Amino acid sequence: MNRLDGKHAIITGGAQGQGEAIARAFVREGARVVIADVADEAGSALAADLGDAAVFIHHDVSDAASWDRLVPEAESHLGAPVDVLVNNAGILRFGEVDTMPMDDFDLLLNVNQRGCFLGMRAVAPAMKQGRRGSIINCSSVEGLAGMASLTAYTGTKFAIRGMTKAAAVELGAFGVRVNSVHPGMIDTPMTQAHGGDAAMEWGATRVPLERVGTPEDIAPLYVYLASDESGYTTGGEFAVDGGVTATHSFYPGNSGRGGA
Ligand code: NAD
Repeated sequence: MNRLDGKHAIITGGAQGQGEAIARAFVREGARVVIADVADEAGSALAADLGDAAVFIHHDVSDAASWDRLVPEAESHLGAPVDVLVNNAGILRFGEVDTMPMDDFDLLLNVNQRGCFLGMRAVAPAMKQGRRGSIINCSSVEGLAGMASLTAYTGTKFAIRGMTKAAAVELGAFGVRVNSVHPGMIDTPMTQAHGGDAAMEWGATRVPLERVGTPEDIAPLYVYLASDESGYTTGGEFAVDGGVTATHSFYPGNSGRGGA
């Protein structure tokens, strides 16, 4: 018996990074998964690697019509209603309050915040009808506290945390659970594109566990939240951050050795 036997999941942004690790972990635990992403090549290659339990569908989370197409198509591939939605897709843009181009601001809102809302909106009717479901929304440690040059991104991640709680209240009576995940600095193509290994080395000095995370550090929490093991858990926020949000960060290195 695997932990996700009989589960049918959509994973947005599942082609690479944390989404890929989540897809691999879900299939390992017995789920059937749809990898929904704009990255066609990586998504198709991953689905092929995962075999019969996985399929790739091109999908833009910011586009309502794309969600209208995705859910029925996913259900026809999965052979059952979707009972797990992982709203993982997201983008990162740095920019200061007074200089950030509004196009970047709008893009962040559309992909991160609107994409998460559209996902919940798309799966809620069938989940309510089936009286079961788990929606897992990817926020960030930037959904728990702020960081310079990330005001717009932080806004979207606080929004995801807030929408998670409101939706959990609304959907609880239907047996549908909604929780948010708050990763710290995780080594993925996203962070490699914004600072690379130098940023990882710097990040490690800020973290009590003295290293940045990997996608494989993140995936087990998603397995738990997707599974019936978390059946009494909704509206919760779960940090997987090496302890970085456990401190107010006055200290240059948050480890006991001061980053030495
Ligand atoms: P990543 O860039 O490696 O992967 C993100 C995936 O989302 C990619 O496959 C990309 O093609 C896909 N995507 C982007 N825009 C999309 C869209 N409009 N529609 C569908 N798919 C789209 O990033 P990651 O680090 O794996 O990030 C996953 C999630 O974790 C994001 O929500 C991100 O904000 C969040 N997060 C990341 C970190 C980190 O340090 N890496 C920390 C906290 C939170």
